[in-house]
Amino acid sequence: MGVEKLEFQVREAGGPELLERLKWLDAERVRPPVEGPSVRAPDKGTHADFDVVLVGGGLSLLFAPVLAGLGLKVGVFERGRAGVVHREWNIGGSELWPLTASGLFQPEEVESLIVARYAHGVCRWHGGGEYPVRGALDHALDAGRLLAQVRQRAEHRGVRFHEGHTLTASCEGPDAVRLHFERTGGGQAEVTARLVLDGRGVSSPHATADLLCPTVGGVLTGLREGRAPDELNPRVGDILVTTEGVDEGRQHIWEGFPGRPGEATVYLFYYAPAREVRGEHTLLRLYGRFFERLGRYKRGEPRLLRPTFGYIPGWSRLVPPPRAPGRRVVLVGDAAARHSALTYCGFGAMMRSFLPGAKAIAAALQEGRVPTGPVVHDTPLHAVTGALAFFMARPSREPERRDEVNALLDTAFAALHDMGNEAYAALIKDQMTGTDFLRFLQRIARRRPRVYRDALTLAGFGPLAAVRWLEGLSRAVLQLPASA
Ligand SMILES: Cc1cc2nc3c(=O)[nH]c(=O)nc-3n(C[C@H](O)[C@H](O)[C@H](O)COP(=O)(O)OP(=O)(O)OC[C@H]3O[C@@H](n4cnc5c(N)ncnc54)[C@H](O)[C@@H]3O)c2cc1C
Repeated sequence: MGVEKLEFQVREAGGPELLERLKWLDAERVRPPVEGPSVRAPDKGTHADFDVVLVGGGLSLLFAPVLAGLGLKVGVFERGRAGVVHREWNIGGSELWPLTASGLFQPEEVESLIVARYAHGVCRWHGGGEYPVRGALDHALDAGRLLAQVRQRAEHRGVRFHEGHTLTASCEGPDAVRLHFERTGGGQAEVTARLVLDGRGVSSPHATADLLCPTVGGVLTGLREGRAPDELNPRVGDILVTTEGVDEGRQHIWEGFPGRPGEATVYLFYYAPAREVRGEHTLLRLYGRFFERLGRYKRGEPRLLRPTFGYIPGWSRLVPPPRAPGRRVVLVGDAAARHSALTYCGFGAMMRSFLPGAKAIAAALQEGRVPTGPVVHDTPLHAVTGALAFFMARPSREPERRDEVNALLDTAFAALHDMGNEAYAALIKDQMTGTDFLRFLQRIARRRPRVYRDALTLAGFGPLAAVRWLEGLSRAVLQLPASA
């Protein structure tokens, strides 16, 4: 399908603003953002305009009302519109407690955001088996309403919103950071903040995670309902499903979860080394594949009601982490990429981060210092599961090896399933203990003795990466904090 026809399909389903966002994201891959160097650092003793400026009004918006509730003066500066999400999120129900613990939502308000619950989820590998799991990624949430309500609460607590403001440059002084914005439609603005939260997601120039997951899809109607694997079962969520082997050097993966009656959210994605995702129209072309191959995944007469797409960064933990450029800048959300590089559950990771992170920031600023410890939650287990994502991102291009990734994943998930639901769900929710992970590795090796040699040759691990991985494994087993 040609680029123009694909653009037409996305515009028809999502409107011009959504198409503009997709083109912006794709253009950034060709010309990554760089910050202009022309801003003057604020002098010592500068009385900043804001205690905290959050740049980016996506999911990281959750920080804003909590920080304001802790007595800080907060501003949100967003390139487009803040609190407007172009995505649907799924999550385990037990992971939503910070929404109420933060005082932002009452339990019944959280309940009203849940659009579907499933009996279980499945992972299914082409040419292999199907592995059900209960209690993980089994709730679909109305992400648009969630963020709209977060914004309302933020405004109620005095947070100031500046939309149509694109951050183009910043400079840190001893007591504050100066930020320079280009306004949509012309004009510029400068403000100062004691602390900046970089919530620009994958668009941040500091989002240097080594993996990237181009994802397209959206909310569909018209999929045939039933119990067969290629039908939509409203009681079951597909967590990870493949319908083919490696093609064009990529292992494409489907995810699908039912939403409101008659609707389902379906995504197609692949893991890739970030530096290799540089082609023109990457997301648009992936949409071409989505429309062309959707019938292999689910039957019916699908209609795309709302396109959702994006690039999700993933940090394998085998290379240095994304780092903020100064003491007064904190990376949050996808820019920090401290979520699992295997599941890419940025929403679950944000649930673990925004409340303790906001408290740590407020405590530091109230004592006249900058936060020193970690603001964004990470878990030692990510250091070991990140290698699995790294391996999936670099499959062999040799045609006779096109089924290797599926075969290895099938072995891994069969072993995981054998360990029982608790361990399986814990891995998906980033909660598996280091000792269970060791047991998991042993079980894989028992089923397929060559597995580690296969995985290492497939992924082309260097010695440094292997050392980092072993260090990560020891930290996970010993329950030590994540190293970076
Ligand atoms: C299609 C898709 C489906 C997903 N599904 C799930 C899921 O089911 N479960 C889950 O856990 N996670 C999911 N995720 C991941 C999750 O959405 C992200 O982890 C999360 O949105 C990251 O939040 P963020 O605030 O860091 O970035 P974003 O939500 O991406 O927000 C970044 C914001 O920064 C703004 N911005 C960018 N550059 C600038 C600039 N220079 N100046 C000002 N503003 C700027 C952007 O306009 C945007 O609004 C999905 C992601 C995608 C792409």
